[in-house]
Amino acid sequence: MIHLKTKEEIELLRENNTLVSLTLAEIGKHIRPGVTTRQLDRIAEEFIRSHGAVPGFLGYNGFPASLCISVNEGVVHGIPSDYVLNEGDIISVDCGTFMKGFYGDSAYTFAVGEIPADVRLLLDTTKEALYKGVAQVKAGARVGDISAAVQSTAEAEGFSVVRELVGHGLGRKMHEEPEVPNYGAKGRGPVLKEGMVICIEPMINMGTRQVVFERDGWTVRTRDGKPSAHYEFAVAVTRDGADVLTDFGVIEKAINN
Ligand code: MG
Ligand code: MG
Repeated sequence: MIHLKTKEEIELLRENNTLVSLTLAEIGKHIRPGVTTRQLDRIAEEFIRSHGAVPGFLGYNGFPASLCISVNEGVVHGIPSDYVLNEGDIISVDCGTFMKGFYGDSAYTFAVGEIPADVRLLLDTTKEALYKGVAQVKAGARVGDISAAVQSTAEAEGFSVVRELVGHGLGRKMHEEPEVPNYGAKGRGPVLKEGMVICIEPMINMGTRQVVFERDGWTVRTRDGKPSAHYEFAVAVTRDGADVLTDFGVIEKAINN
């Protein structure tokens, strides 16, 4: 069943997703060649705890870290490690928080120094696909309207949409109904209602849409080894449109300084 949230509950979700955005901004300041993904994870955990929350992913189904960090061909669910970031890498950082009974969940793909133009296009297109999906959100629209907008934006540039992983409802649980696929047909799927809070999170590959699940039980990567990007917003559905609970503004301000 789909849990509709009260205004007060939406504010608690906003608090969580604001903290996620600030955590991603903090991480963004530390992303540079020579840093390990484990160092970024430690920074995030301390930042989240110092703001009165707990990392939403740590221990979730046994996940061993506070951030999911997926480098280059990593799609999602990468485990922070001793991997040292190189100039030209991209890293998708997914962050969750839990406080006051609710979760936050958002993701951003960062460039490490200068990246090739085709990879920059993948990042920009994936973010654009997210924004196009969000623009479909309002009470009375359908999940498929979001899915179709994301898919057509990605495929217009020749990129492909991962099918195995999807967006989701967000609330007292990290993953609630409904599922929010990044592919599908306009006019299909559950009707969006005021008070629904959903995560829209395109995972877009430069090459094949096929993915491989690694033996570590978590990491998902592209089958062809080409790069993948991931951006995620939590949004509340209103009569007039999407009330975006995630703030990429603070992240982009941090990385452009
Ligand atoms: Mg996420
Ligand atoms: Mg999510």
